[in-house]
Amino acid sequence: MAKRDYYEILGIPKNASEQDIKKAYRTMAKKYHPDMNKDNKEAEAKFKEVQEANEVLSDPQKRAAYDQYGHAAFEQGGGFGQGGFGGFEGFGGFGGFEDIDLGDILGGMFGGGRSRANRGPRVKEGADLRYNLTLTLEEVAFGTEKEIKYKRKGKCKTCHGSGAEPGHSMKTCDKCHGSGQIRTQQRSIFGIQTVVHECDKCHGTGKVPEKECHTCHGSGVEKETVTKKIRIQSGLETGDRVRVTDGGDAGENDGVYGDLYIFITVKEHEIFKRNGYDIYCEVPIGMTTAILGGEAEIPTLDGKMKIKIPEGTQNGKIFRLKEKGITYRDRRGSEIIEIKIETPANLTEKQKKILKEFDESLGKKNYKESHSFIDKMKKFFKGEE
Ligand code: ZN
Repeated sequence: MAKRDYYEILGIPKNASEQDIKKAYRTMAKKYHPDMNKDNKEAEAKFKEVQEANEVLSDPQKRAAYDQYGHAAFEQGGGFGQGGFGGFEGFGGFGGFEDIDLGDILGGMFGGGRSRANRGPRVKEGADLRYNLTLTLEEVAFGTEKEIKYKRKGKCKTCHGSGAEPGHSMKTCDKCHGSGQIRTQQRSIFGIQTVVHECDKCHGTGKVPEKECHTCHGSGVEKETVTKKIRIQSGLETGDRVRVTDGGDAGENDGVYGDLYIFITVKEHEIFKRNGYDIYCEVPIGMTTAILGGEAEIPTLDGKMKIKIPEGTQNGKIFRLKEKGITYRDRRGSEIIEIKIETPANLTEKQKKILKEFDESLGKKNYKESHSFIDKMKKFFKGEE
């Protein structure tokens, strides 16, 4: 059966943004999640399809390859045919991480079953790492650059990852004769079976150093602290992930790097609340300004600004300031201002007297809402007296 188009599976156009893909994936994954669809084979198949589509489209490199070559991009012995789509979020499941000096990396690795199951000598893939990064609303509103520092397994500086002492070369592993595999015969109830193991001497790579590197003892990796500058695009939200290709651990025995996943948390702001790309702010104004009209100074992400308060402004009045919200791609959300009228408190006797006199002068046309409400009440309770 022909494979369905990944964009079609997620129900998004070819030019969908990363955010669109993520949103579509979350919706679809929830809809077809096995927990929500007990024993539903169709939903299970759809769920797998959705995960596969997301695995490809959420990764810029894989997406580019898919856009160019379609499904053929991943067909022959590709990196993630076997054992790929395990975990719910597309990771291969969580591995142990107690041997890593975590430092400020708070999570673990997701490496799990990602190493390639191809036959023959193989390249080791390092673990993916997680880094938790907290950003301010201002930082995500406009985008920024952040420097992060963390510990990981890097290539050994002495042997540059080969595992061989400088001046000594690599030779074919004498235990597996370069195949990276050991075959053993096992007797079972089905007869004699051949079982294939990874060669424990060369760790599946087929090569061993003539002399092991004195720094890494042949593994080719050592702990290192790396500093990276990360571009933070505008519009990110709590729960978003930023992938840094090759930012993870180096694979042993001259393997390849895993990726670093930066998990974003956006801090609560003292003044603004966020709703998508809009920001919201409650602004208190004095009773007199509300009655007579005037100006109110308000905060925006671009600095302070004045807005006009019309005469007779009511509590809860909303002002929408276009292009003052959070930037995303070439657009910008709005800032929503809600006016809160503050009733003056702690009045002196003299002030109270002035107010009473003033109140006596007010009539129906000054209090339209109150009066129409009183009329409604009268109608409703007519006959009860
Ligand atoms: Zn070394």
